[in-house]
Amino acid sequence: MAVTMEKIVSLCKRRGFIFQSSDIYGGINACYDYGPLGVELKNNVKSFWWRSMVYAHENVVGLDAAILMHPRVWEASGHVAGFSDPLVDCKVCKQRFREDEIDPEKLQVKQCPKCGNKNALTDARQFNLMFKTSMGPVEEKGSEVYLRPETAQGIYVNYRNVLDSSRQKIPFGIAQIGKAFRNEITPGNFIFRTREFEQMEMQYFVKPGDDLEAFEMWKERRKAWYTALGIKADNLRFHEHGKDELAHYAKAAFDIEYNYPIGWKELEGVHNRTDFDLSRHQEYSGKDLTYFEEATRERFLPYIVETSAGVDRTVLTCLVDAYEEQQLDSEMRTVLHLSPAVAPVKAAVFPLVKKDGMPEIALKITEDLKKDLLVFYDAGGAVGRRYRRQDEAGTPYCITVDSQTLEDETVTIRDRDTMEQERFPMKGIKQEIMRRIQNRSQ
Ligand code: ATP
Repeated sequence: MAVTMEKIVSLCKRRGFIFQSSDIYGGINACYDYGPLGVELKNNVKSFWWRSMVYAHENVVGLDAAILMHPRVWEASGHVAGFSDPLVDCKVCKQRFREDEIDPEKLQVKQCPKCGNKNALTDARQFNLMFKTSMGPVEEKGSEVYLRPETAQGIYVNYRNVLDSSRQKIPFGIAQIGKAFRNEITPGNFIFRTREFEQMEMQYFVKPGDDLEAFEMWKERRKAWYTALGIKADNLRFHEHGKDELAHYAKAAFDIEYNYPIGWKELEGVHNRTDFDLSRHQEYSGKDLTYFEEATRERFLPYIVETSAGVDRTVLTCLVDAYEEQQLDSEMRTVLHLSPAVAPVKAAVFPLVKKDGMPEIALKITEDLKKDLLVFYDAGGAVGRRYRRQDEAGTPYCITVDSQTLEDETVTIRDRDTMEQERFPMKGIKQEIMRRIQNRSQ
């Protein structure tokens, strides 16, 4: 059965992955809260990214810059003048749309996509997507600051600091994970497009002329990262930006797209930004941002290759890609085939029944596992129902203590995907679970 966005939303609420923000007040549009399972999944995605970008590359280092930055940053970056989308209003139903998202035939006759009235749409005007606030106790001209609409600028303005303090040489990269805010005109599709979200960005500084090779390298590595995360290769593709789609600063841009229930959409952008960013910051700050290469005695302004992914969009991708409804003999099972690397709970431990010392043994196993893994002890209800609950949560392994355990100190490990159960000695259970997680997380 095909996965739909509604099914994902409903599973997320039911199992505590994701809730509408401020739910008891009727919710606030396009903001979401991550529940107990969601925060684990999200943290695991971020850690999988961090390990693969920072730990796996000796020439990539991390950064955590402030959300609020000097307002001049956003003038230099071009966001004050140009970070806008064309907005049109419907004069009849008062809905707002992004002009570039309206069917061109409808746009021609100014027909509203919502209420269908013709000649109802206003002319487009540019709407800046940055959230503005003010710093300090007095709201006055000059106290305005912005909630950053991307994490990238925090990296550019720290490029000199990192270079001077980390003994890196070009080529090198700076990676950052953090919140970004955009006052989107048409947010929606659950966590696909929200007004507050997180980005995982890496900016790679290279010598001009080496940019094409670096661009190709990161394009391939980033696509491979998603398959390592467990995403099906058939659901991923590249989309190259045509001349009309390219941002003013970009020499080349590819989106990594995913086949969502709402169609193929951008999951991550890989951009060759040339020396646009550093030259602008050099101009606006008056600071020399050139790099001196010892080996060639050359001085140049580095080019930047950017990989920019959304944390929330990756979480959504993991959920959509992992979701399956299976018709079993007597019932329907909903299962999330999440990679053990990102699955919120790694193993559940059950006593088959609440007697004969089984709960005590199961609790002892839980105590031991929980020193290294997030595990869940559950003694409530029929064991079949307990398995189903873990299937829906994406838990890869269930360990059950049964009557045979009392005789020979073995337990069963049930695999979420095959539903097969195997017996293992209780003593080596932790190593066995760790080994399985490791094997399936590469
Ligand atoms: P779009 O064309 O979808 O508006 P964009 O091209 O503006 O996206 P980028 O500025 O390249 O997006 O941002 C990089 C990544 O950040 C995107 O690929 C996406 O994963 C994520 N992202 C951007 N905007 C949002 C949003 N409003 N909500 C959730 N994630 C977002």
